[in-house]
Amino acid sequence: MTAAAFTAAEACPALVLNADFRPLSYYPLSLWSWQDTVKAVFLDRVNIVSEYEREVKSPSFVMRLPSVVSLKNYVKPARYPAFTRFNVFLRDKFSCQYCGDPKELTFDHVVPRSKGGMTRWDNVVTACAPCNLRKGGMMPREARMHPYHEPMRPTVYELHRNGRLFPPNHLHESWMDYLYWDTELEP
Ligand SMILES: [Zn+2]
Repeated sequence: MTAAAFTAAEACPALVLNADFRPLSYYPLSLWSWQDTVKAVFLDRVNIVSEYEREVKSPSFVMRLPSVVSLKNYVKPARYPAFTRFNVFLRDKFSCQYCGDPKELTFDHVVPRSKGGMTRWDNVVTACAPCNLRKGGMMPREARMHPYHEPMRPTVYELHRNGRLFPPNHLHESWMDYLYWDTELEP
C-alpha cells in the first residue's frame, strides 16, 4: 500500500475547474470537500479530470476520490474578486502600506471609521500593527501617513498576478497543471 492510501478522505479536496479547464475561482481557490465532489459526480454535473489514490467504499461501489473535476456547464467567472481579508492582503502584497513591513499585519481604514470611513476596497489598506496604532483615528494628512498605493478594487487578473508571488502552502501535484498554466516560463 502506498502512503497516499492512508490519507484521510477529509484531506482530499478536489480542485474545481470551469468548463474551460481554468479554476472556477482563484481567491479563494475553488475547492470542494470530497463529499460535495462525489455528489456532483453522481449528479453528472462534473467530469473527473484526476484522482487521488484514496478510495471510498460503500456496499454498492468503490471509487477513487477525484482530485480535479471540471464543470460540464460553463459558469461566467466574476470579474472582481470578493472583498475578503485575504484578498486585501494579497492586493497589497502582504506588506504594510505605510512602511513596507511584512509582519504583524492588520487592516487600517485610511479615512477612520470614526470620521465616516467605510470598510471597502477603496478605504482599507494593509498596515502593520505599529503603523496602525500610530495612525489611530487620524486622517492621513494629520498623521502624515499616506498609503504607498491609493487603495482600489482590484480585478481578478491583478490579484492573480500577485497570487503567483504568494502560492498557497498546500497544493496537490495534480492541481498544478491547471493553476499556473498562464505563468510565464522562466528561462
Ligand atoms: Zn507599517
